[in-house]
Amino acid sequence: IIIYIKMSLIELLKGYNKLKPEPNILILGLDNAGKTTLLNYLTHEDNKNTKPTPGVNAKSIQCGGIKLNVYDLGGQKAIREYWKYYYEKVDALIYVVDASDEGRIDECNDSFQSLLKDEKLDKVPVLAYGNKADLPNCLGPDEIIEKLKMNDITGRDWSLYACSALKGTGVKDGIKWILEKLSQ
Ligand code: GDP
Repeated sequence: IIIYIKMSLIELLKGYNKLKPEPNILILGLDNAGKTTLLNYLTHEDNKNTKPTPGVNAKSIQCGGIKLNVYDLGGQKAIREYWKYYYEKVDALIYVVDASDEGRIDECNDSFQSLLKDEKLDKVPVLAYGNKADLPNCLGPDEIIEKLKMNDITGRDWSLYACSALKGTGVKDGIKWILEKLSQ
């Protein structure tokens, strides 16, 4: 039996009345990590009203006063190449890892390390999702923490949750962590 857990960002937001105004959350990760699936899950939509950004694989959507911005990373592109499309201050970062794709974990780590070095993301709290945890032989949370050298992170809060954006398991715990960080 497969149980799909229903939830939306709007429902979760009800418990948080001290949220800073109009927070901006960036959702980043390699292509195919599950960012769009996560966005659809959080917003209960097929995101037909998302605005594509010309030149990059990016989407932007408002949900319950929170702006969610999704970018594909990867290839040879440095994160700074994306900033010309992005002018707002980032309040929190969600980094989506495909935990079922061990073959790309080094590439995934490379893009993560360049994010951590980016001055525009200085001190910004990072939530990493070990996504696709519903699939067999996934990297577990401890392995992802090790591969992404998360224990070496300084000067910002971070957390990692295993999740399945497809089925909804684990997503809520990560979002609650982010909402705590966005609370004043
Ligand atoms: P994006 O490129 O990061 O936006 O990735 P997508 O959201 O388009 O997802 C890429 C592929 O992975 C799609 O076929 C999704 O159905 C699949 N996918 C995303 N999340 C999960 C998950 O939690 N579990 C499984 N089994 N598949 C997933």
